[in-house]
Amino acid sequence: MICAHCDRVIRPGEDYERIPVDTASAAAPDVLRHREPCRRTPQPIGQSVLQRAVRRWG
Ligand SMILES: [Zn+2]
Repeated sequence: MICAHCDRVIRPGEDYERIPVDTASAAAPDVLRHREPCRRTPQPIGQSVLQRAVRRWG
């Protein structure tokens, strides 16, 4: 399983969620992503950035 946000493997035991893809094609697989924000950032995460990410992911 690959996370749709960070393109990294979601390992067994890691928390993730499954997002059904609403499309006309029945062959489209569900999207999986880590439940925690996991996208790499170019610089250390500051508090404001973290809060913004939480809002976006909420
Ligand atoms: Zn991820």
